[in-house]
Amino acid sequence: MLARLICRGCGQIYELQKDLILACENRGDNKDTNHILEKVIDVVISKRELISSKELNPFIKFKDFFYSHDLAKKLNLNYNEIVKKIDPGFMQTPLIRDENLFIKNETSNVGGSHKARHLMGTAIYLEVLGQKKPELAIYSCGNAAIGASFVAKAAGKSLSVFVPPDLDETVYKILRDNGAHINTCPRVAGEVGDPCYNRFQEKLGHGALAFSCSGTDNWSNIEGGETLYFELLTELLQNNIELDALVIQVGGGALASAGVQACQEFYKARLITKLPRIYAVQTEGAHPLVRAVEKIKNKKDLETVNQNMTKYMWPWETEPKSIAHGILDDVTYDWFKIVEGVFTTHGDALTVSEEELKAANTLAKEKYQIPVDHTGSSGYAGLLKLYEQGEISKEEKVAVLFTGVER
Ligand SMILES: [Zn+2]
Repeated sequence: MLARLICRGCGQIYELQKDLILACENRGDNKDTNHILEKVIDVVISKRELISSKELNPFIKFKDFFYSHDLAKKLNLNYNEIVKKIDPGFMQTPLIRDENLFIKNETSNVGGSHKARHLMGTAIYLEVLGQKKPELAIYSCGNAAIGASFVAKAAGKSLSVFVPPDLDETVYKILRDNGAHINTCPRVAGEVGDPCYNRFQEKLGHGALAFSCSGTDNWSNIEGGETLYFELLTELLQNNIELDALVIQVGGGALASAGVQACQEFYKARLITKLPRIYAVQTEGAHPLVRAVEKIKNKKDLETVNQNMTKYMWPWETEPKSIAHGILDDVTYDWFKIVEGVFTTHGDALTVSEEELKAANTLAKEKYQIPVDHTGSSGYAGLLKLYEQGEISKEEKVAVLFTGVER
């Protein structure tokens, strides 16, 4: 069966088609329904074929898992050529081993974080569809905008970024050098939610396309983000290793959603024999996902949470603050896939304190010599806490992601 999209909120199915679909068309009908599109794909690939591949570009190496690849085939287009044409320089990122711990180092990726991967997924999708001159928009406080700007530039597309007023000067310069249109968005008294996200939504209302890392606006960014985990799982398979646990930092939720989806797809394709336990890490300063997980009683609740969203997910009431400012989203936009991952694998969601974030970052930099920022090592802070609590043992194979470079 060819790839297709299904809305986990209203159940609508979108068959593989040449019309652009980024979000469910029923979105907006009912605020209590979580209209999140999920790719469904049947992949037949042998473990031997996968681990013997010498391809370094993850978007080509793992193309069998891509909706865009199925679509290119249906439209008689050369998928590899399309990827190469708009590629800003993606290569497999390093995996560092420390006994039973595996660290995926994304700080050396395009734009200094994992974010560009997500948006490359969208750029490929738009290119396959022949969307020549779309105006793209993204909201972000840093790395996502940077990742988007590198990918949009390589693809020759116009990009508007919606960012907070206190944007780091280095970030501002990179965005400007990449030709992005920068819009600063101050908090407005009485307004609920992230002002950058709200201004971004207004821009979408004026016809721009969502080039963002929020699956509810743009499902295809999740497909791009999955490549991180495909690389990770495949490198482990080459060494006959399967993960017991995967610890992931959560802001808007796209990174962890992509992780759950990728593991499920590898499991469905019989490349791995078990799903790793999923642990989601947020800050004490803002943890809407942890709050949602606490409200869900058991796996059975998952059948109805998407139809009763406001009972589980709503904007953080106070202005979120943390040294890990990259995961301070008021709302975990991609929350469903993560709670599905947590409840089906017997994982958990937890918070870490500012002290724990600082200690983990210092250790990460000293021990592994990786220039990771506090957001980028926040999953590692969660892992150290889980080790201490005995929730994860040192005998278990576990992976964390160092996601953002320190600027
Ligand atoms: Zn829907």
